[in-house]
Amino acid sequence: MKQKVNAGGFAMLVDLDACTGCYGCEAACRETHRYGYDEDWMRVIRRDPFYVDGKLRQYHMVAPVLDKCAACYAADPNPLCATGCPAAALVVGPIEQVLKQVPGRHVAVFTA
Ligand code: SF4
Ligand code: SF4
Repeated sequence: MKQKVNAGGFAMLVDLDACTGCYGCEAACRETHRYGYDEDWMRVIRRDPFYVDGKLRQYHMVAPVLDKCAACYAADPNPLCATGCPAAALVVGPIEQVLKQVPGRHVAVFTA
């Protein structure tokens, strides 16, 4: 069933060309919210290099828990996961604002 995106909702963008898979955002989220190691609100998924058209590429991915992120962003519009990312690969904010940063970039966007 199709659902419309809430234009006023929250979004997180990860720049796949920039992310180095450093785990900084995962650590920053845990440090900010102090949940135990039996919980997980942000996970970095590192991928092995692979060939595309005969050339090696490597991308990593983040897996945020978007309802937690939306509440986190409402409490602090500059969460440490994004402000502390050494590659400036994470962008969080209202969907409308985040989508303006998509053109011309190789990104994944999560919405809530
Ligand atoms: S998004 Fe940033 S902090 Fe998170 S793994 Fe990628 S480079 Fe590191
Ligand atoms: S926005 Fe908040 S809850 Fe979501 S990954 Fe970043 S620090 Fe964690």
